[in-house]
Amino acid sequence: MAEVEKMAEELNPFKIAQKQLDMCAEKLKLEPAVHQFLREPMRTLIVSIPVKMDNGETKVFTGFRVQYNDARGPTKGGIRFHPEETLDTVKALAAWMTWKCAVVNIPYGGGKGGVICDPKKMSKRELEQLSRGYVRAIAQIIGDEKDIPAPDVYTTPEIMAWMTDEFSKIKQYNVPGVFTGKPLIIGGSAGRGDATARGGTYCIREAAKVLKLNLKGATVAIQGFGNAGQFAAKILSEEYGCKIIAVSDSKGGIYSEKGLEFSKVLEHKEKTGSVMDFKGAKNITNQELLEMECDILVPAALENQITAKNAGKIKAKIVAELANGPTTPEADEILYKNKVFVIPDFLCNAGGVTVSYFEWVQNINGYYWTEKEVHEKLDRIMTEAFYSVYEMSQKEKVHMRLAAYMVAVKRVADAVKTRGWV
Ligand code: NAD
Repeated sequence: MAEVEKMAEELNPFKIAQKQLDMCAEKLKLEPAVHQFLREPMRTLIVSIPVKMDNGETKVFTGFRVQYNDARGPTKGGIRFHPEETLDTVKALAAWMTWKCAVVNIPYGGGKGGVICDPKKMSKRELEQLSRGYVRAIAQIIGDEKDIPAPDVYTTPEIMAWMTDEFSKIKQYNVPGVFTGKPLIIGGSAGRGDATARGGTYCIREAAKVLKLNLKGATVAIQGFGNAGQFAAKILSEEYGCKIIAVSDSKGGIYSEKGLEFSKVLEHKEKTGSVMDFKGAKNITNQELLEMECDILVPAALENQITAKNAGKIKAKIVAELANGPTTPEADEILYKNKVFVIPDFLCNAGGVTVSYFEWVQNINGYYWTEKEVHEKLDRIMTEAFYSVYEMSQKEKVHMRLAAYMVAVKRVADAVKTRGWV
């Protein structure tokens, strides 16, 4: 194989997802037929969506919906609008959604959708037409009992509102449970805004218990100051008494030994566009943030941040992965050897999909919960998930990521076998 092709294959997200499954299948001694079935999506739909653009021309967009596995319940997963969307990316994300729903034990399979488009270059009217056209194209295979999409990169609550409306028009009655991540006024859930970070903080709380680390005054460094990173900083400092010593964004980071006050940093970021140059703090690079002396490191920005190059320099006791894919497989082994406790991404950031599940339950019942109820239910699910993974890692003497895969894949495989499919 030519070098370029080999590299492309190594970076192909679906090949990576299959490799991760293969490793786990070997450890679980999965039957070959079950393994083979779980290596590919159960159903893949490719659609063409014609849209009349503002200039009068019609443009035809390509969209995908992948239903990876529904042995544990209807498939669930976001819709991405992205110029570089590919079928293999959607397939990989659908596989990861399957494992994520299984690890937190919510009654869903995994799916994902996408449309190749550049939303930044489209008007609001064009985006609405594309969103509605996509729903008409996939309407046959989605529904609140079949497959429930949600927002992902460049899709918003407003887009979910248009999509829910289009699907309801096709059915001729209101079907709020077909999409989650909707605005509150048409059936969104309380507590969705900070759900991902909050779910992660419940895992951090339990990890601190097993490591006998006192969270009051524990030092925290957070990479990324967007939805996930900001709420993590807020909850950890205001509700657990942690000391946030460093935060960063795409421009760079800041450090203060005394601790950073969340609300003041947020105000500064809103005013200046970055956390950098915050009064009383020292500017640092993202690399310095990752490698600094702290109790808890929260990667909440991009993938591939902790690699074979810097893993040996990580000094945190806990790495809580709110971002997707921040640690490479080589780095995982180094961190494990150095006794750094990693809470893997698809467990740590599953609070978002869990509250999406709550939204669906509330829509189906037509009965809505308070934010406090959402938090209590989220806490129970995340805490149980944390211990099922922790116990597997102790029993099998493997790192938390492999343990999480083992818990998730075993649940899906057992459901497949119990239904008598394989
Ligand atoms: P966001 O766009 O709101 O924020 C991303 C933040 O990362 C921004 O502050 C940005 O400046 C920063 N950033 C970008 N490049 C950086 C770099 N090189 N170094 C440091 N910081 C950098 O995104 P988000 O919703 O907070 O998502 C962050 C991560 O969490 C992603 O990996 C995402 O997939 C994952 N995640 C988010 C959710 C959710 O509900 N928001 C759910 C699951 C997973």
